[in-house]
Amino acid sequence: MSQKIRVTVWNEFRHEKSNATVKSIYPDGMHAAIAARLNMEKDITARLAALDDPEHGLAKEVLDQTDVLMWWGHCAHDEVKDEIVDRVQARILEGMGLIVLHSGHYSKIFRRMMGTTCLLRWREAHEKERVWAVDPTHPIAAGVGPFIELANQEMYGEHFDIPAPDELVFISWFEGGEVFRSGCCFRRGLGRIFYFSPGHEVYPIYHNPEIQKVLVNSVRWTRFQGNESVKPFYGAMCKPLEKIEEKNYHAEPIRHPGK
Ligand code: ZN
Repeated sequence: MSQKIRVTVWNEFRHEKSNATVKSIYPDGMHAAIAARLNMEKDITARLAALDDPEHGLAKEVLDQTDVLMWWGHCAHDEVKDEIVDRVQARILEGMGLIVLHSGHYSKIFRRMMGTTCLLRWREAHEKERVWAVDPTHPIAAGVGPFIELANQEMYGEHFDIPAPDELVFISWFEGGEVFRSGCCFRRGLGRIFYFSPGHEVYPIYHNPEIQKVLVNSVRWTRFQGNESVKPFYGAMCKPLEKIEEKNYHAEPIRHPGK
């Protein structure tokens, strides 16, 4: 394991090119803004990847050198190639962290990892959001107050069709009355996943210091926490640790596929 946590910040990177408001907030893309903030941390090194890069910027060598992948997508989820989704999923199962932001709730990779539709209710009405830390002792909420207040946000509301999160860190309240599970932790295989909903592209959400704090914390939480040298292995015919009595369960040995 390298000393620094190697983060790849993946962005669809389309709205910043086509929408003047988004471009004015994130001239180099929201992934660049997020990575610049992450790179201020001594224990983190972040790089960029985008949908229109070759292999979506997620070549095998890149993923092999990624401890945590951050994902923002919205209007082009369907353009993400299934073979890349397969590759990302395989890395998560072997221990890579995944942080899914905002409209990434409907990305192929998040739906693949959840196994549900990941649909929700939404509304664009420039309304106030309060992101409540419902697990204030969780490492992802460290240094954040009882809530983060965002003056303008897109409303995301329940029901959010996800499996029950393994750990729930934030619940948001919106001016219009809805609530939403906005910070959810999941474990899949050896990997850790964090979904964080704030981040609509026409608001400067990723310039907000408290939101940035959550992103930094979530990088540290989603990175592989175990010991690389003791990752489990799978397969049949393990040598017994103790001497076991010979038993004749089968008159003839059963042949398994692949042997
Ligand atoms: Zn949005």
